[in-house]
This record gives sequence, structure tokens and C-alpha cells, in this order.
Amino acid sequence: MRNRPNSFSTRAIHHGYDPMENEGALAPPLHLTSTFAFESAEAGGEMFAGERAGHIYSRISNPTCDLLEKRIAVLEGAEAGLALASGMGAITATMWTLLSPGDEVILDKTLYGCTFSFMQHGLAKFGITVTHVDLSVPENLSASIGDKTKVVYFETPANPNMRLVDIQAISDIAHAHDAYVVVDNTYSTPYLTQPITLGADIVLHSATKYLGGHGDVVAGLLAGSEDLVSDIRLYGMKDMTGAVMAPFNAMLILRGLKTLELRMDRHCSSAMIVAEMLEQAHGIQNVWYPGLAGFAQHDIATRQMSQFGGMIAFELNGGLDAGRAMMNQLQLITRAVSLGDAETLVQHPASMTHSTYSPEERARHGISEGLVRLSIGLEGIDDVIYDLEQALPRPSIYSAA
Ligand SMILES: *Cc1c(COP(=O)(O)O)cnc(C)c1O
Repeated sequence: MRNRPNSFSTRAIHHGYDPMENEGALAPPLHLTSTFAFESAEAGGEMFAGERAGHIYSRISNPTCDLLEKRIAVLEGAEAGLALASGMGAITATMWTLLSPGDEVILDKTLYGCTFSFMQHGLAKFGITVTHVDLSVPENLSASIGDKTKVVYFETPANPNMRLVDIQAISDIAHAHDAYVVVDNTYSTPYLTQPITLGADIVLHSATKYLGGHGDVVAGLLAGSEDLVSDIRLYGMKDMTGAVMAPFNAMLILRGLKTLELRMDRHCSSAMIVAEMLEQAHGIQNVWYPGLAGFAQHDIATRQMSQFGGMIAFELNGGLDAGRAMMNQLQLITRAVSLGDAETLVQHPASMTHSTYSPEERARHGISEGLVRLSIGLEGIDDVIYDLEQALPRPSIYSAA
């Protein structure tokens, strides 16, 4: 290929695939096979011994997944990638690989509900110390990290309250203590933030969200160094979780990645318009969007993200009841969990995605009961704004304010 570095979209469309090696097929073939033939008994033995390259069985590797793994690696600026059954598959396979009983994992305060549940109710049962620290202030990590800390884990922006974490600052502190840094980059995508280039060891995704982008597949991806990714493939994925991505799903994610840049540009520009509208609207207590000048961490957002993403959190004056009433008034915006789809989606984390936390845990972890989460889609922005405006509370004609 050419020598000049390719742009993000060019890599997302072309990297790792040559039609001329595939009978001229423009779209990569779907290798719908569980197992692979060995040329000879000896060749099979050599593959199992790791002395010969090649595919053995699709719980270890598959050519369609392999192409997707090369693409996520190049987009994240990493050496290697891995395709898994779901975002949770990527998270659990990584943790089962990196951690042993007696180790400590330090987690940010706010995490996606099932991630919180896996760490708090899963890992903690197996002799692993699970400690939550507010990583939005890097000094908090310096104060709590110790000899047993093996992994530092966070999302940025965090689901659902949009808190950001300074990837570089946290990585510097963690590495000074020989701990791995694992970043869930689902909200940003590699188009907006590349955690590996800022020092993270593993970046992972719910590819169900923006990377797939069409709400038709559950999938996970991760990327990092050759050695770490190979360990996660052979232990966490192959043996401990079996959470492999189906080749058909890899094809859907490869298709999604081709338009990731285009879609993200639109998600980001539309979300900015909605966030500014909500900030001005009647009856709104708080709007959390990293692109707003008034957002508490706007500085770090500007340094770490090339744009501010498609996710918004907000809270109405009337808390949960007002939030529910507004959600029920929406005509176009769909009441559904998940995010990053073409459709604008709205949900209530405390009773839905983050109901894995107890009310006390939500209070401790900064997830307010009235918070409403919006995933801004790709519809005409005027239609999205119109729908929100007709659903938001109106100023009372009797009140002086
Ligand atoms: C959805 C989500 C996950 C879990 O991914 P699945 O593909 O649903 O397993 C993990 N992290 C974040 C931030 C998410 O939004």
C-alpha cells in the first residue's frame, strides 16, 4: 500500500484487507466455520504448540474476526486487537486474565451497571480486593494505590453521569506502581479518544454501541500490546469465559466501522445542539455534556477528546417523577437502553441500566435518582429538538417566574 499514513476513515475502510487476495471480493468474506483443516497431523500439532501460524478452531481465532481485530488495533493505535461476544465478555475476559486472588483492582467511582456488578458482586467473591476511588482527581489514586494494586479501571466519559478521567495522569501514577490501566472507551470511540496513545495498557469497548452503530448486534472489542492481547485471547477468552464473537457479528461490526467517523461527526454536532437547548430550557436542574463551557471538566474534555460525543445526562427540577413524565411524552425519541444507534434513545439509569446498584450505592457513586440519559442519534436535529421541546415541562402561566 502507499507509504503516507492513512486517515481514520481510510483505515476503518481499508486496513488489513486486499480484494485481490480474495477473488476480487470488495466486501471481506464471511468465514462461517467452527473448525479448520490441518494439512497434516504434524502441522496440526505444530499449530497447537504455537510453532506454526494458522487457524485451529473459532473459539481461538477466525479470519473474519481476525480482520476486525486488525482494524480495531490500528484505529486505537495498538499492536493487537481481540473480538469478543459482548462488552461484558471483553471486560470479564480481561479481568480474569490480569487478576489473581490477593490482588487489588482500583475502580473509578462511576461505572456501567453490569461492570459494577461484575466487579463488586463477581470478582470480590474470588479473593480480589475491589476498591472504588474517585479517579477524576488523579491525586486520589496516588493516595490509595499500593503494592497489591494490579489493575486500575475506568470509563471516560463514565456511564451514565459523564465524569471524565485524565488517562495520561492516571496511567503515569499506575505505571509507577506496576499496575495495568484498563479503559472502557465505549462512550468516546477511538475517533474521539485513543487511550493507548495516552498510556493505557488495554482499551475495551461495548461494540454493541457506536462501533456497530445500528442497534442490531451485541459485541465486544479490546486492544493493547501483542503479549497482553494474546494472554487475554488464550486464557480469558478461550478458557475462562468462552466469550467469542461470532463471525457474522464481526462482519456487522466491520460494516459499522466503515461509517464510524461520519456517524460520530453527526452524533457530536447534534448532541452539542441538544445540550445547549437543554441548558436554556425551563425546568432543568442540570445538564452534563463535556462540550458545554460550564461543564465542570470542560478543560480535560478539550485536551482528551477531539469532539465531545453523542451522550448527554440531565436532570429535571422535579427529579425522577418529572423525568418519567417527560420520557412518557416523547413521540420520536425511543425509550430504550443501549446507546450509539441511529435512533435517539432515552432511559432512566437508576431504574434501568444502573439498577444493579442499590440506592445507597448509587448515592455513594454519584448517580442521582432523577438523572435521565440521552443517546443522540442521527435523525434530523430539528425533529429531535421539536420532540424534546414538546415533552419538557412548560412554564406555568400562573407563576411569576
Ligand atoms: C453497554 C456497555 C457495556 C457492556 O457492553 P455489552 O456489549 O452490553 O456487554 C460496558 N461498558 C459501557 C460503558 C457500556 O455502555
